Amino acid sequence: MSEKSRGTVDFEFSVDRNIKVPLTDQILGYIKMKIIKGDWITGQKLPSQRKLAELLSVNRSTIVEAYSELISLGIIEGKYGRGSEIVNNTWSMMLSGNTPEWNRYIESGIHKANQPTIQTINMLEFDNTITRLSTGEMAPELFPHEMMKKVLDKIPSRAFSLNYIEPLGLLELRKALSKYLKIHGLDVKPSELLIVSGSLQALQLISISILKPGSIVYAEEPSYVNSLRIFQSNGMKMKGIPMDRSGMMPWIIDSNDSENSIMYTIPSFHNPTSINMSEERRREVLDWCISHRMPLIEDDAYRELWLDEPPSKPIKTMDSTGNVLYLGTASKSLAPGLRIGWVAGPEAVVERLGDIKMQTDYGASSLSQWAMTEWIESGLYEEHLKIFRKKLKNRRDFVLDVLEDYYSDIADWNIPQGGYYIWLRLKRKTNMDKVFETALEEKLLFNPGFIYSLKNNSNLRLSYSYAQLDELKKGLIKLAEIIEEK
Ligand code: PMP
Repeated sequence: MSEKSRGTVDFEFSVDRNIKVPLTDQILGYIKMKIIKGDWITGQKLPSQRKLAELLSVNRSTIVEAYSELISLGIIEGKYGRGSEIVNNTWSMMLSGNTPEWNRYIESGIHKANQPTIQTINMLEFDNTITRLSTGEMAPELFPHEMMKKVLDKIPSRAFSLNYIEPLGLLELRKALSKYLKIHGLDVKPSELLIVSGSLQALQLISISILKPGSIVYAEEPSYVNSLRIFQSNGMKMKGIPMDRSGMMPWIIDSNDSENSIMYTIPSFHNPTSINMSEERRREVLDWCISHRMPLIEDDAYRELWLDEPPSKPIKTMDSTGNVLYLGTASKSLAPGLRIGWVAGPEAVVERLGDIKMQTDYGASSLSQWAMTEWIESGLYEEHLKIFRKKLKNRRDFVLDVLEDYYSDIADWNIPQGGYYIWLRLKRKTNMDKVFETALEEKLLFNPGFIYSLKNNSNLRLSYSYAQLDELKKGLIKLAEIIEEK
């Protein structure tokens, strides 16, 4: 312990009797300020009550009251015969009884809290002692570091400032994307593109800009959006559409359209099932939406991650009516930390979303937008994708072998043709909460199927993209044992 931490603090303060603030509060305010600023640190002592009363020329009872408050907040401890020692310097401890009732405020916000299981997953994904069997991210060793260095090297000569950017996003990036998306058959002008901070933000913008409370959001059952509160928090109702091997089957549901209903789909290597929508189904879904005058959100987050052959062209390429809002993102193919996604749609809609985006955050990171521009223009993005796909394919095959060896008796699954996930359907009805808890005790984290579904189920999503292969194998073998025991 340093000399300073053992010593008694310097109390350079005098009370002001000309103001209306009670003396106890003045003394408390000074002590808290010194601790928050870090001038006084844990381990140091406050003067004894008698000494401080003398120093400040106040009644001893005033100091007793101030110290008692500090003790009750857990900031100091009064050690018998050793004076009062500072034991905590966290800000939250400084909140006295005068603070607002935060709980009441917290519960009244528009946005609902995440499902507890999702909160747990979000937290534990950052615990290095845990094996992540479901994480939908690229393993750190697959990240193209050298290419990223080259890209970042180029930015200073292009981005003369990192000021705010126009409402639709960096023009250079929109031009680069407009050209790049032609690979997928998409013919969109820069003015029909909005750059967003990840496609998640696109969903948020859509729900607050063009939908209204009571709107119905139709989506595959199960779906990634069922694990999001975005639509529900904004008053929309979710309705699930069953899927077969070719994708969603909207004609099965009966849609008594309420105003502003919308369809959401992940046609390419769907999250969480990895089902890849056939070309014919894409047309059928589009036709259904057109005949119901229902806009379609096509979330194509996994398009680039095909492992055997590219998916069919985006639904948007089949649309001549302006019915489709197409979402893309760099998150799955390159880096979610860039927070770069895009929306392609009719100019009026894209401008509306851009206007709300400006009101929300004034634009996606300009550094990331320049980086993404450079990734695309330099050709490094495509080069990286070629390498990444090969490695991802090896990972998929590795995990499929493990499943073949250890899961044949307990589960069914489809072979994913792309994306990150294997959707495991347990043959026996299983309490997935229990499996989740027991797996965590064994330091294994996976995403139970119920977080993607409006119905309960005995499924789980595995990912072959993230964990190291030896850990993934060990973890999967252990998980199979846990499932068998439940
Ligand atoms: N759409 C789908 C289908 C996803 O799986 C994800 C991420 N899991 C997202 C969108 C969100 O991606 P972003 O990082 O671009 O917000």
